[in-house]
Amino acid sequence: MNKQELDVQNLWEKVKNKVFGDLDPQKLELWVSPLSIKEVDENSVTIVVPNKYFSDWLVSNGYLEKIRSVISEELNSSELLEIKIDYIYDISQSQELTPEQKIDYEYIPEKVFVLKETFNPEYTFENFITDESNRFAKAVCETAAKQPGSAYNPIFIYAPVGLGKTHLLHAVGNKMLEMSRKFRIAYITADKFVSDYISALQNGKIDSFRSKFQNAIALLLDDVQFLIGKEKSQEEFFHIFNILFDNKKQIIITSDRKPQELKGIEERLISRFEWGVIADIGRPSLELRLAILKHKSQKQKIFVPEDVLRYIAENITENIRRLEGALLKVVAKAITENLPLTIDTVKEILKDIIEPQPKPISIQKIIEVVAEEFKISKNELLSKKRTDALALPRQFGMYLAKKLTDLSYLEIAESFGRKDHTTAYHAYTKIRELIAYNPYYAQILNRMIEKIRNG
Ligand code: ADP
Ligand code: MG
Repeated sequence: MNKQELDVQNLWEKVKNKVFGDLDPQKLELWVSPLSIKEVDENSVTIVVPNKYFSDWLVSNGYLEKIRSVISEELNSSELLEIKIDYIYDISQSQELTPEQKIDYEYIPEKVFVLKETFNPEYTFENFITDESNRFAKAVCETAAKQPGSAYNPIFIYAPVGLGKTHLLHAVGNKMLEMSRKFRIAYITADKFVSDYISALQNGKIDSFRSKFQNAIALLLDDVQFLIGKEKSQEEFFHIFNILFDNKKQIIITSDRKPQELKGIEERLISRFEWGVIADIGRPSLELRLAILKHKSQKQKIFVPEDVLRYIAENITENIRRLEGALLKVVAKAITENLPLTIDTVKEILKDIIEPQPKPISIQKIIEVVAEEFKISKNELLSKKRTDALALPRQFGMYLAKKLTDLSYLEIAESFGRKDHTTAYHAYTKIRELIAYNPYYAQILNRMIEKIRNG
């Protein structure tokens, strides 16, 4: 640590003692330990907080003012000190972040797009919890991070908002930088690509714009759907893509929809996306949602009873960002208002963000979707014939019934024309193993779940 950093650390320790000295240990741990300061000079100081709850908490309790006066005193500064707030990352928003709230990954001219600290340190592979909905996407990204440009290239990941696409790209960046700090990695969102490209054009800096990409070992393009309708930018991206690809550089693209559904993006670009591996992230299972909440609460060292976590996981099903936001809201509210963490208080706290209950799923719908997926008739699916071509779809059907309905194994077996509950049980375990090791079947399964839920 150099002297300046040491001074900043010391200053922060003093501030903590003087401003927060009286807080009880639980609050100290929850609210104060994640804070830090940076960029101290006579006129301004930046406090780094995890998210909006923390800044609100600092302001509404008058702590920000106290911090200001302690620092002014310590620095002997006569000027009015400006206190800025910076966010590490923001999971408190239950909706998509507005562009201003998003961390802006500075594109520093003459340097590279992203260097060390700029990837979110929380977005790692270790912190990415999996089930069958996202295991494949994580696996290909992890391989690509370890062996850029070799096995899977390009990688195209698609998923609705809030299911971990950006997290995975940052995990790739973090992993590559762990291997070598010297790696140049071009991480950029497609909307920033468009605006940087336009300003490079306007300023006659197109060569330097290009060379930044060309010198990278990996290109991570987030939210490619923002290229829709931007023909010139697409053309530019197409050239950059080709150069990097030909030089065996790793390319990973994320999107909110499948390649074929990117209407308004040139066909030749879409066909490039389809060259490599395409992985989707499906809706998270209840187990995954619960595991993520447990992981989060353990990491943040907050104790939340299991039944409360389960209640949150059961009621917020579509979007992991919202799930995390709900957890944070519950904890923040419970602590500030001194509420016990019971299901009743949690219900009250979350009443505005709990999603309406999805309508129950019928076994008929499952049978219909499975028959359609495997291109067999419903009668064949429910028949006694044991050929492989029918047995596998039938097992998928029983697996889906177990996953998506409350029916017992016996009821499931009976719905598929069988008498014995063990048939359904075996089908369930067989498919569970199959999809764990076979991404091809995992994708088929996700596709069917999607159809069943949406239809
Ligand atoms: P997207 O880019 O797909 O909209 P993000 O990557 O921003 O989604 O993810 C939203 C939030 O959910 C992030 O805080 C991320 O860390 C978290 N998240 C998503 N998937 C997982 C996962 N499998 N395990 C842990 N956290 C996850
Ligand atoms: Mg994203």
